Amino acid sequence: MTVVVATLEAVLSGTAIATGPVGHCVRCSTTVREGDAVGLSASQTADHRWQISRLYCTSCRPECLSASTRGVHKAIVHARAGTITDVTTQRSWLVCLDPTCVTIAGVNTETATTRSQRPPRHTQASALSQTPPSE
Ligand SMILES: [Zn+2]
Repeated sequence: MTVVVATLEAVLSGTAIATGPVGHCVRCSTTVREGDAVGLSASQTADHRWQISRLYCTSCRPECLSASTRGVHKAIVHARAGTITDVTTQRSWLVCLDPTCVTIAGVNTETATTRSQRPPRHTQASALSQTPPSE
């Protein structure tokens, strides 16, 4: 098996968010169309694939996860709805465009982490601290 490391945004970009050319918000049933800002709830399956489990309209899209994740990777993603059309079958469906992960919950914690609150990585700083003094 080949393991490819990618950001959640890269994994979800272009993923189907509805089975047809329009979708519906799970909270208020508003119709979601191409070009609309949307919220998505995504979770990771046992075989490490990410799947979109819920679609929200602009008004209803959450900023954070509401329930305990119980050791499962879950994320809230804000994105834009686009459409892909298969000209052969004349079928089109909504897809996730320009996704931004706003909240992600890890395997070892039940606490959701907001990406913007994470401290930046300082790999160079940690490498410097391991350098023995020169004197
Ligand atoms: Zn809604």
